[in-house]
Amino acid sequence: MRRFIAGISALALGIGLSISPAVAQEKGVIGIAMPTKSSSRWISDGNSMVEEFAKAGYAADLQYAEDDIPNQLAQIENMITKEVDALVIAAIDGTTLSNALANAAALGIPVIAYDRLIRDTPDVDYYATFDNFKVGVLQAESLVKGLEERFGDVSPWNVELFGGSPDDNNAYFFYDGAMSVLQPLIDAGRIRIKSGQMGMDTVGTLRWDGQVAQARMENLLSAHYTDDVVHGVLSPYDGLSMGIISALKGVGYGSGDLKMPIVTGQDAELPSVKAILAGEQYSTVFKDTRELAKVAVKMVTAILEGGEVPINDTTTYHNGVKVVPSYLLEPVPVDASNWEEVLVGSGYYEKSQITQ
Ligand code: BGC
Repeated sequence: MRRFIAGISALALGIGLSISPAVAQEKGVIGIAMPTKSSSRWISDGNSMVEEFAKAGYAADLQYAEDDIPNQLAQIENMITKEVDALVIAAIDGTTLSNALANAAALGIPVIAYDRLIRDTPDVDYYATFDNFKVGVLQAESLVKGLEERFGDVSPWNVELFGGSPDDNNAYFFYDGAMSVLQPLIDAGRIRIKSGQMGMDTVGTLRWDGQVAQARMENLLSAHYTDDVVHGVLSPYDGLSMGIISALKGVGYGSGDLKMPIVTGQDAELPSVKAILAGEQYSTVFKDTRELAKVAVKMVTAILEGGEVPINDTTTYHNGVKVVPSYLLEPVPVDASNWEEVLVGSGYYEKSQITQ
């Protein structure tokens, strides 16, 4: 039955075209639930997985939910009803899937948490991600490096902090990683958070929304920086960095004597890489989504076909019910000094995509 549905679904969706439907029917269909197409990294994640699953002989049912939680839940429930052979999920809200995943478990459908941990359920088998604490460390290290370069003669440095979406477990790891570097400098008086706004409860940015970040930056500037300057902004994601940079440019930073503050980021999205070249964003963190896709696919094929599931961490990611065995990839810091080597050299982008 599951094989029959899988064949229909592969044909109906018209995906996995590079392999014959016979092969897709042979091995089955994998449900892939991604959060949104509004950020290019998830498009790249989805495409890489479809490609890798095709190479391994599976069709994929790839769905994006445009950051709408009920929509993603419905997509996953639908995949379970179709009895896909496995689920790979990058959750919008990591805490809202418990009931659906209990149904998946009852049908023996394995579940991989992709990039973001799925919380509060026993029914998640493995977690494929990056070293998320290290992402935050890299962001803060690059913030400090940039502050030294651009504002070495100033003390204290005025810095403002932004966090990711509070319903995304990663956001806490990014923030904690960054604060492991910044807190000692704050304690020593080298960095001042002029607004006093600290902690994920205060600085989190719901749904990783760039407009929300822009509005908060505008408020910070008008409330705390009318007669002082901001030197650095910790931003955990390129989409937020773009909003923050718009707010800064809106009040004149980056022109005349008002130097652009050091703004960090994550994901090496094209607008941000271009902004790094233009001297507006200082850095980003590259996470090779092609490699993450390969890990997730290896996890699924090992579970379904037998073999060793790749894991390299069995202690870090407790989801509220259990520690989820994980594979952590290495994030890579990127700034004006190494973008070409890292992003073009690895084949992630063509140089013309960045420089045109
Ligand atoms: C991912 C980041 C991404 C963010 C916003 C996080 O869960 O790990 O790579 O920047 O979501 O999409």
